[in-house]
Amino acid sequence: MTKKLYENNSLLKSCQAVVTACTEKDGKYLVELDQTVFFPEGGGQLSDRGTLGGVKVEHVSEKDGHIYHECIAPLEVGAQVEAVLDWGVRLDRMQQHHGEHILAYCFWKLFEANNVGFHMHEDSVFIDLDKDLTEEELLQAEHMANEIIWDNSPVTVEYLDSTEAVKLKDKMRKFNEKLTGILRIVSVENADICTCCGTHPPFTGMVGSVKIVRREKHKGGCRVEFLCGKRALLDADMKNSTLLQVAQGLSTKPELVPEYLAKQKADLLSQIDDLKAKLLAVSEKEFVSACAEAPATAAGVKLLAFPMEGCDAKDIKAFLPKAAALENTISILVAVAPQRISYAVVLGTATEGDCRAIIKKVNEVYGGRGGGKSDCAQGGSDYCADWKEKLAAVTEQILKE
Ligand SMILES: [Zn+2]
Repeated sequence: MTKKLYENNSLLKSCQAVVTACTEKDGKYLVELDQTVFFPEGGGQLSDRGTLGGVKVEHVSEKDGHIYHECIAPLEVGAQVEAVLDWGVRLDRMQQHHGEHILAYCFWKLFEANNVGFHMHEDSVFIDLDKDLTEEELLQAEHMANEIIWDNSPVTVEYLDSTEAVKLKDKMRKFNEKLTGILRIVSVENADICTCCGTHPPFTGMVGSVKIVRREKHKGGCRVEFLCGKRALLDADMKNSTLLQVAQGLSTKPELVPEYLAKQKADLLSQIDDLKAKLLAVSEKEFVSACAEAPATAAGVKLLAFPMEGCDAKDIKAFLPKAAALENTISILVAVAPQRISYAVVLGTATEGDCRAIIKKVNEVYGGRGGGKSDCAQGGSDYCADWKEKLAAVTEQILKE
């Protein structure tokens, strides 16, 4: 049985150890030691990395009481080696893991929101809560968590039998009644108490800071992504640098970027509205001349195919009454925006025909969807560069019938 030195001293960065077993598996070597500083993954915390006698350890796992150090080369059984942690990796894991303890405590203490899932990845860490908290509530919890970190409160580990541990139940964030035997209890002075097998810093200050970066709804509650310690600093560096570049590009101050962009957006929308109004005025003139030139079907009904470039479904709506007022005319209106094609088929006054049959043909040609009533049908499709040719093709098809 390997002695787990990390359980009682999470700051131990190396130790001397004797190799007790070495088994080859899938091109890697699973090495066991008499004692180790390497934490195997567990309790939501990722595995340590480092070296054994200078040989790289890529991953560590625990199974049936054995701790396996996954090495890239074999080690001789009986050899004495120095086990050295990649301390940067361990510190990062410990900051995220213990930050999660503190943040989850604050959610529970402030809002009775329970942590029902903790996920730590190489590049993201998040908690699933069984309550959907607001942005303001999350900020409140984040502030409380940082206060606990800055208090630099002692973090202690003690081992209690489950019959003793159950007495602490009311003070604990969560207690699993099914656990029996000796339990490992991790406590932050005057704050969080819970059972955990992971590594924790001796004082909360080592977590550095905690910053919530994203929130989304998740299974009736919410998923909260956060960063602790160095990760939070690197993220702030990246975002600050991005913001400075954006501000420089816009020739404004960083704090004025949102206001600047809102104004730019409003100006652009207003310009688009003006352009649209002009475009529709031109379209109306073209509509009148297109009506006059519309060819007739074999049944003697005029067929008006009217393209509306730069327009959308809303603009088509404005033309529906005009098309409906045309005598003995069926109109096919096609509006073309950069990413979308919208169309309508309209039966004019005193006109024989069925718009549903015609829109079926239009759907086929454009690969789109749409339908409606016998006097008016509407639909749309994805944008296609040959939309004009397609309109000509469907018109010709109808005229030939
Ligand atoms: Zn823990």
